[in-house]
Amino acid sequence: MIRKHGPAFKKAVIELGKCPLCRGRAVTMGTFYELPCDHCNASGWVVAATGEALPLDELVTQLSMRLQAATRQIEQLKKPRATGPEALHQDGNRLGAGGTNYTGD
Ligand SMILES: [Zn+2]
Repeated sequence: MIRKHGPAFKKAVIELGKCPLCRGRAVTMGTFYELPCDHCNASGWVVAATGEALPLDELVTQLSMRLQAATRQIEQLKKPRATGPEALHQDGNRLGAGGTNYTGD
């Protein structure tokens, strides 16, 4: 996966998925109380492609990148829209080719 987000990140972003064991909760139900999920290093996340847990050092970095991206997204959502109404005018392409059924005979 190639992302052009500037040179801020040297490390590749690994696609993460929810841990199938704890379903992203990072804990599993023990007999009497919740236990840290040992399938995902108690993170709730696994590598989406393989379903395997990330090593702790890699996990920390990946979670950090994910959190930074999420934080950026939140900040952008909080901002008032700087773009004008032009942004809404993107669906002017409703008439496709061959819409009429004129045979001419
Ligand atoms: Zn888990």
